[in-house]
Amino acid sequence: GRFWHNRNAHANLMVSLLLFEDFHTPSPAGKKVEFSPPAFQNDLALGYQIVKAQLDEVYRINALLRVGLAKLAQARSRAEVYKAVGDSLIEVIDFNGFAVLRQIEGIMVCTASSAKQLIGATWRDEDHEVLYATQKPTLLGDAHKSRFWGNNSQFFQALHPGSAIHLGFHAENAPVHIVLTHDAVNGFDLADRDILYVMSPYIRQAFENVAYMREMERLATIDSLTGISNRGHFLELATLELARSKRFGHPSGVLMIDADHFKQINDRYGHNAGDAALRQLAAKVRGELREVDILGRLGGEEFAVLVIEADRAKTVQVGERIRAAIESTPIVRYGYSFWMTVSIGIAVSSTSTAGIETLLTEADRALYAAKSTGRNRVLSISNAPMPWTSGEL
Ligand code: GH3
Ligand code: MG
Ligand code: MG
Repeated sequence: GRFWHNRNAHANLMVSLLLFEDFHTPSPAGKKVEFSPPAFQNDLALGYQIVKAQLDEVYRINALLRVGLAKLAQARSRAEVYKAVGDSLIEVIDFNGFAVLRQIEGIMVCTASSAKQLIGATWRDEDHEVLYATQKPTLLGDAHKSRFWGNNSQFFQALHPGSAIHLGFHAENAPVHIVLTHDAVNGFDLADRDILYVMSPYIRQAFENVAYMREMERLATIDSLTGISNRGHFLELATLELARSKRFGHPSGVLMIDADHFKQINDRYGHNAGDAALRQLAAKVRGELREVDILGRLGGEEFAVLVIEADRAKTVQVGERIRAAIESTPIVRYGYSFWMTVSIGIAVSSTSTAGIETLLTEADRALYAAKSTGRNRVLSISNAPMPWTSGEL
């Protein structure tokens, strides 16, 4: 332990004082709260000195803990949580190595570690599947003799622990393990373990916060009916991608896709069937695209695609593939099925193109032309910056 010797005997006292609000409130005179010395091994003066020294350490640890907990509370990503965990623990516990492990279906994944080579490492471990949020950390006085992590030589080689503290809890519906290691056998004591115990709910909460924020972000960017990007997210992603492809001098294509006579589908088969058709449409379009292409639902029965690094011919080809795939796949419901078609308008970026909004406007004009010339078709209006100058339809 780092702060005081022989503190095991007082571990319970120490930890019960940690985070105790009134304890560190200065008295009106500006001095710390006075404690009357307890009877201590028949030597009151010595006892008082020891207790006083230990209380000073408690003040110090308390202050450090608060800084650590604030860092944890501010973490906005998993990476920030890992950093905050390491940074805050090193302030209050003396350790040489650490690892954060997440366990999913018997597979242990090392997500953060002081041993760089361990990060990303995976191994099978079914023994530690069941852990409870309220479980106290386990102190391993002699890690070599413990079978706790004995199955994984990789872990031992990377951290070569003499001793370890293990904290297990559930966060984001998966077991998380935090392991602190010390080179020395018996490098930790009960006070170290209890400090970790005091911090564990805050650490757990930090993981949950990040999951919550991610979910909020997802809800804000994903269209709930189809599971693809919503309008705002599509525009954001497309803007970034266009800037990138422009820098490299590559053209990109835009498809504006609109379901034909969709109102009739709703009227004939009902709104639920319409919803199913939109879900299938989104999935079909996604299936015809490369991973890098950006797809979004602009609203209603209107979708847009940014086909990355594609010229006009390539974009038309992708559009035609989508049109054909949708035309040839029925929407199957209980007891009946129906078909739908889409019209697609195309625009292609060039160095003079202002941005995604301009491209969408141009694609929308092509789409309008596709609708007015019969639907179920792909149309591209080349070199037509303004509607009243477009000659070729
Ligand atoms: P057009 O071929 O000219 O595009 O005809 P259309 O009927 O598809 O066009 P219009 O814009 O008149 O109608 C679009 C319809 O899409 C009307 C609206 O009720 C329906 N719609 C929009 N969003 C949804 C949705 O989330 N679910 C369902 N079921 N229908 C929707
Ligand atoms: Mg429509
Ligand atoms: Mg429409």
